[in-house]
Amino acid sequence: MGTIPYGRQDINQADIDAVVAVLRSDFLTQGPAVPAFEQAVANYCGALHAVAMNSATSALHVACLALGVGKGDSVWTTPISFVASANCALYCGATVDFVDIDPRTCNLSLARLAEKLGRAEKTGNLPKVVIPVHLSGQSCDMVGIHELSKQYGFKVIEDASHAIGGKYKNEPIGNCRYSDITVFSFHPVKIITTGEGGMAMTNDMRLANQMSRLRSHGITRDPTEMTHAPDGPWYYQQIDLGFNYRMTDLQAALGLSQMQRLDEFVAKRHVLAAHYNKLFGKSPVIVPNHNADCYSGLHLYVVRLPLDEPKFNRREVFDRLRANGIGVNLHYIPIYRQPYYEAMGFNPFDFPEAERYYAEAITLPMFPALTMAEQQAVVEKII
Ligand SMILES: *Cc1c(COP(=O)(O)O)cnc(C)c1O
Repeated sequence: MGTIPYGRQDINQADIDAVVAVLRSDFLTQGPAVPAFEQAVANYCGALHAVAMNSATSALHVACLALGVGKGDSVWTTPISFVASANCALYCGATVDFVDIDPRTCNLSLARLAEKLGRAEKTGNLPKVVIPVHLSGQSCDMVGIHELSKQYGFKVIEDASHAIGGKYKNEPIGNCRYSDITVFSFHPVKIITTGEGGMAMTNDMRLANQMSRLRSHGITRDPTEMTHAPDGPWYYQQIDLGFNYRMTDLQAALGLSQMQRLDEFVAKRHVLAAHYNKLFGKSPVIVPNHNADCYSGLHLYVVRLPLDEPKFNRREVFDRLRANGIGVNLHYIPIYRQPYYEAMGFNPFDFPEAERYYAEAITLPMFPALTMAEQQAVVEKII
């Protein structure tokens, strides 16, 4: 038996045909597939603007820059995320701080955020931007975060790398109703893929224009953005220090094709999650919580082996599953525990719920082609 991974892409003939069609076309990059993919995702989410990039990491970076993050600013996020959720602030010369998680949802805790904002207001250390991460695909409490953003005057970037296809209060994640910008990832383990890729959604045209410019060297071809009338039809101006963060047409064609099956992928993930939940039944394994007002994208299925249950030794369970060809994983090592962040002086005791999560969590295989027999084998091994 080969190893069952924790996540993997689902590619069909239509996906392959879509990429081959681009290979035979005039444009491998900067052609029509990128705007078509952007339009498809914007329509799906109900956002006005979408800016495709070569990764969610790039999209987070450019989102921070568009919101004016720079030296002397502070950006807050959750410690239980991929490092990219925090690194984007450091790229801009800002500092990062973390808000402990809610033990039930494992997302950034609204109560801890409110407390920390209250303290920061007194010391004049309010964040410029807060980046809630929809862990495993379940939305954070965006209504609450939005209210706090109005009260304390910070901007909000949703890191929805896990959450395309998910809903919050019956509306698609990515519509930016409660945020300035929402970012998706299209890495192959995520819900739909472009190989590598990401996208920033927004309803603010100014932010969209700025992000489009920054993904392509800070160059504009729009005369209204130039310092003087164009010298001629060849003319463009570099007005910001941008990057080459563009998505190729090969990638966008794959993404556009994958969009056709997005709802199907997420529905299948829900069937698999329900099956896992049933198999765990009354065992002491803690299955993922689902809030009534959320429809998760279910990128990840993370169970917790409670520390106070003496039967469990998470390390032993992990090692044995891996030895049996089950590619379990751990999402995530708290970011403040990474040496690069540790050096900034973070103290794990400030994040007791993140610490407990890190001691208990284990990510089980979850991807559309996972079979119920494979799920059965995984659960039997754990129990
Ligand atoms: C995957 C991921 C990213 C980075 O996505 P890339 O497209 O690989 O750059 C950022 N944040 C979270 C929460 C992720 O899971």
